[in-house]
Amino acid sequence: MPLTLPQLSRREFLKRAALAGTAASFVPSLFAELAVKPGDPDTFFFLSDTHIAGEAATISHGVNMTNHLSTVVREVLAWPVAPAAIIVNGDLAFKLGLAGDYTAFGKLIEPLRALAPMHLTLGNHDQRDNFWQAFPLDATKSESVPQKQVAILSGARANWFLLDSLDITGKYAGQLGAAQIEWLVREIEARPDKPALVVCHHHLDRLGEVGGLKDSTAMIELLANHRQVKAFIYGHTHNWHVSQHEKGLHLVNLPPTAYVFEPGRPSGWVCAKLSDNGAELELRSLDQKHPELGQMKRLEWRTS
Ligand SMILES: [Zn+2]
Repeated sequence: MPLTLPQLSRREFLKRAALAGTAASFVPSLFAELAVKPGDPDTFFFLSDTHIAGEAATISHGVNMTNHLSTVVREVLAWPVAPAAIIVNGDLAFKLGLAGDYTAFGKLIEPLRALAPMHLTLGNHDQRDNFWQAFPLDATKSESVPQKQVAILSGARANWFLLDSLDITGKYAGQLGAAQIEWLVREIEARPDKPALVVCHHHLDRLGEVGGLKDSTAMIELLANHRQVKAFIYGHTHNWHVSQHEKGLHLVNLPPTAYVFEPGRPSGWVCAKLSDNGAELELRSLDQKHPELGQMKRLEWRTS
């Protein structure tokens, strides 16, 4: 369920900050910093699996998710370049997508909305109605696929396709459904000239696996055989990892901003910079001593 939150003007931001009781000293200094920051149309920031609970003190797997997201927000704001967009790829809420989870999530990401437009997708721990109610004023709903929210971002060097894999809240696997897959084929085929980058919360299950997309078989075929599709970007497994399908499609598993399932794996976010024939991904791990902090993954696009 991708949802677009437009970038806020200084005036709008100040109005909201006053209503929310945000510290007055924070807002002008934030805008002073952002005003001098150069923007880069080829840079995109990715966050995933924030798992924010309404109660800020909530801890899961030994991690306070609110603290993690707050730290990521500070790091993103301090980055020397403003991105074209910030994408948060699902599992925004803690477990069941409660209304309070989204209220808390909205407050935590509010400073980022001064930096760039944000695009949100939903995962299996999100809940559609509660999510919509949390952003009633500025949510842009898409009606392209019934019951699902999809979006296309047209960038200078690539088209991004944001999918909706939320099936049943609280159940691990996800599903796109036939209508969304048909929409995706149609929209990808209508844009043959630029690289297509597909973003979805759930991963693609290989033969015999379960827990990712229930429609993995159809999606793998679709993505691998449309040569303009260069990368599939997902979260869900909480395990930063970049691999490649045998047909040259890049598979990018975003790290969670929240907790990891496997000890030693990094939590954090990713800065992606597109070039003519590929992308460079930089891992920003929250652990400043993690061996993968600053790790660069260079993806080269397969030729069509
Ligand atoms: Zn998750």
